[in-house]
Amino acid sequence: MAVFLNPDKVRNEYGLEIKEKIIPDGNKNKPNRRLTSGKPEWVTVHNTDRVITAAGTTQSEQYARATFNGNMGGVSVHYYIDDSDCWQLLREDEMGYHAADGYWGKGNCTSLAVEIVMDGSGKDHDKAAEARGALLAAILLHRHGLGIERLTTHHRWSGKFCPAYILPHWTAFRGEVQKNLDRLSGNGDVDGDAAITAADARLALRAAVGLETLSPLAFAAADKDGDGKVTASDARAIIRTAAGKEESE
Ligand SMILES: [Zn+2]
Repeated sequence: MAVFLNPDKVRNEYGLEIKEKIIPDGNKNKPNRRLTSGKPEWVTVHNTDRVITAAGTTQSEQYARATFNGNMGGVSVHYYIDDSDCWQLLREDEMGYHAADGYWGKGNCTSLAVEIVMDGSGKDHDKAAEARGALLAAILLHRHGLGIERLTTHHRWSGKFCPAYILPHWTAFRGEVQKNLDRLSGNGDVDGDAAITAADARLALRAAVGLETLSPLAFAAADKDGDGKVTASDARAIIRTAAGKEESE
C-alpha cells in the first residue's frame, strides 16, 4: 500500500483547501534560491496530465508525493491542483524548476507555478480542475498585488505548448481569473455573474442582516470597503455601482 504524503499544515483560502508540504530547505529536489525580488512577479499556469492514482488518494497528492520524494527529476512547482485537491510544495518567496528556462531563467526566477491536473476531456472533472486553478491563480495574484497582466503561461517562458489543455481557450481562462480577481478585490459581484446589479446589492443586504450566508468568495466580493464585514453600507455602495454612480462618501 502506498504511503501517502502527510501535510504539515492545511489552510483554507476562499473555500479552497490547500495542503502544505514544503520541500525542506537544502533538499536537492528544489533550487533552494529565493525569487529574484524576494516575491512573485508572475503566476505561471501549467497543465499536467491525469495519471492512474493509488486507491484512496488524488491526482494532486500523487504528483506532490512524487515531487517531494524526488521522483519527478528536476521538476519542482509551487502548487498542484485538480478537481478535488490542492498541494503546495514550495514557499511563495522561493523559485522552482518548472518553466524550462534554467537556473537564471526569468520564468523560474520570478514566477509561481500552478500545475493544473487535467486530461482535456472536457468532462466534469476537467472543468472543475480548471475552475479551481482559475481561483488559485486569482488568489495568488491578489495576495501579491499583481494584476491580470501578470498571469502567464509556461509557453511564454520557453515556447513549450503548455498549459496544453487551456492554451486553446486561454482568453476565456484569463477571463475567469479576472472575474475571480475582481471579486477578491471586493468589486460587488456577489453572485459571480460578472455583472454588478441590484441583485448583488440585495444579496449583500441579506447577508448584512443575517438572512444569507455567503460563500467566502461571494463575501469578499460583497465587502466593498474591505473592512472584513459585509454591512448595509457595502450594499449601498454596490447599488450605487449598479446604478452607474460614483461613490461620493
Ligand atoms: Zn508547463
